[in-house]
Amino acid sequence: MSRLVVLAGPTAVGKGTVVRALRDMAPEAYLSVSATTRDPRPGEVDGVHYHFIDREDFQRRVDAGEFLEHATVHGQNWYGTLRGPVEEKLAEGEPVLLEIDLQGARQVKETMPDAHFVFLAPPSWDELVSRLVGRGTEGEEERERRLATARDEMAAVDEFDQVIVNDTVERAAAELLSVVRGTR
Ligand code: 5GP
Repeated sequence: MSRLVVLAGPTAVGKGTVVRALRDMAPEAYLSVSATTRDPRPGEVDGVHYHFIDREDFQRRVDAGEFLEHATVHGQNWYGTLRGPVEEKLAEGEPVLLEIDLQGARQVKETMPDAHFVFLAPPSWDELVSRLVGRGTEGEEERERRLATARDEMAAVDEFDQVIVNDTVERAAAELLSVVRGTR
């Protein structure tokens, strides 16, 4: 079985951006497509960035045991990793990368302790706050909620096998790619 790499980190650290850069560098690096109940943002494509499904469908899949892990993120929307495609790729000898939140990473650690857990960290807390505010896609209340989540998430760094600092997207993506390829 090849390696499952789990990437987590605080809100707004830039997980999505780093993972997109990695996908551009190495299209063969299999990135699991999560399911979510949130609405697509402009430019997001169903089946590529997420499987956008409604709550009823999500719940049905939870009940059917289709998720490797699932969580309510920011107390709002549901997100989950579908077990089937991940197990298939690993069985084929392909590496798999999950980009999920901390709650999800903890669940994977319970069920697949041999996975490699990578924490994407900001260069500093101040930098994280300015990224969180700078993105400007959420309202005041939502921002406060995400900040509170991020504070808890930063405290979880010790639970991880490895830390990658997101100083520049290209460098962090290259480091992550070497982890996914098993060369680091
Ligand atoms: P966004 O809505 O901005 O795309 O993602 C919000 C958060 O959900 C991010 O922290 C992302 O890592 C997390 N997330 C995305 N997919 C999954 C998933 O399948 N499982 C879990 N637990 N979290 C996810």
